[in-house]
Amino acid sequence: MPVIIESDCINCDMCEPECPNEAIFMGPKHYQVNIDKCTECEGFYAQPACIPVCPIECIVLATPQ
Ligand code: SF4
Ligand code: SF4
Repeated sequence: MPVIIESDCINCDMCEPECPNEAIFMGPKHYQVNIDKCTECEGFYAQPACIPVCPIECIVLATPQ
């Protein structure tokens, strides 16, 4: 299950360098997560590395469909 970046992202650039899978990229309006690359940091960290660095808490775990 990937994480997603919500539309209130302020493009602060804090999360992008934290991602070991280069899954975070700048979209048309704000940063986004490539869900095919995001592994929730499995194999690198115990928790998603991007979530705690976001100052406005707009990175969230995707909810299962
Ligand atoms: S959870 Fe990990 S792999 Fe997924 S976008 Fe965040 S830093 Fe990258
Ligand atoms: S850390 Fe949060 S606000 Fe900053 S660019 Fe990433 S998702 Fe956007």
